Amino acid sequence: PFDVLVVGGGPAGAAAAIYAARKGIRTGVVAERFGGQVLDTLAIENLISVTHTEGPKLAVALEQHVKEYEVDIMNLQRAEKLVPAGADGLAQVRLANGATLKSRSVILATGARWREMNVPGEQEYRGRGVAYCPHCDGPLFKGKRVAVIGGGNSGVEAAIDLAGVVSHVTLIEFDAQLRADSVLQNKLKSLPNVDIITSALTSEVQGDGSKVTGLIYKDRTSDAMHKLALDGIFVQIGLLPNTDWLKGSVALSPRGEIEVDARGQTSLPGIFAAGDATTVPYKQIVIAMGEGAKASLSAFDHLIRSSVP
Ligand code: FAD
Repeated sequence: PFDVLVVGGGPAGAAAAIYAARKGIRTGVVAERFGGQVLDTLAIENLISVTHTEGPKLAVALEQHVKEYEVDIMNLQRAEKLVPAGADGLAQVRLANGATLKSRSVILATGARWREMNVPGEQEYRGRGVAYCPHCDGPLFKGKRVAVIGGGNSGVEAAIDLAGVVSHVTLIEFDAQLRADSVLQNKLKSLPNVDIITSALTSEVQGDGSKVTGLIYKDRTSDAMHKLALDGIFVQIGLLPNTDWLKGSVALSPRGEIEVDARGQTSLPGIFAAGDATTVPYKQIVIAMGEGAKASLSAFDHLIRSSVP
């Protein structure tokens, strides 16, 4: 069995694996896709001390760093079920390929994914005007015109944030009214360079072959189609944690995030979690790495306090 089994090979999982392996304990990482969301990212400019990198490059660096240590990497393997430890003190992680892995502690780091609009042009212009993270990509649109899709808290927060960076923001909401907290709505409405369009269904992302040039939306009250000229589109219609496989084992929040305390401890002893899959706010690489390190140190702390079977 492993001492520490990490599920997930993104920034959180990689950090957790490195911290565990450096304690000289048996460490494994099982990942559906080593690298995680970073693989889908172009420019990264907010990983502190790295002024600029690209996602695929960072993913390779994460894997190389993990491989500096004796870590059993099981890539392209999906975990399907977590079984809490019984009398033998070993938790089990069942994989889609039928195998079962046993470990004295487990770190859950399966990340999250942005909910997409699923309209023509969205995939084609992803990273070329279509963005999901205002903290990450906002500065790339300095002085330009952008839209934010979604009038919930994250959409309205993104629009307020972006209004301070870009020249103009149009917030587009499907419903007849915004769903964000009223304090946020009031702040948004006070900004001079923001327009709000409600009852609008975004139906197409338009581009010139290399980058976004605008979008088309349908006014749901009149069914009329309208066009907006834009340089960027921030999609803020939800972040979905990859935790379906954990339902019925660890405690999840109403949004499906793994509930953790300040040490990364979940509701089950010996099971820790880190990164975008958890309730920790602000889904960022630097935060996921820090949380991964923390969960790993907590797992080690747990191991030295429990009797070795
Ligand atoms: P993830 O990176 O999501 O990794 C999850 C890992 O778990 C993956 O290896 C996945 O394959 C694996 N996994 C999932 N389910 C299972 C399962 N059932 N079994 C086994 N393995 C599983 N952040 C920044 O700080 N700066 C940026 O510039 C930036 N730009 C971004 C751009 C885009 C387009 C996107 C999508 C995100 C961006 N982010 C950025 C956010 C950042 O990528 C995430 O916060 C970070 O990757 C979270 O790390 P994580 O390890 O928690 O999860």
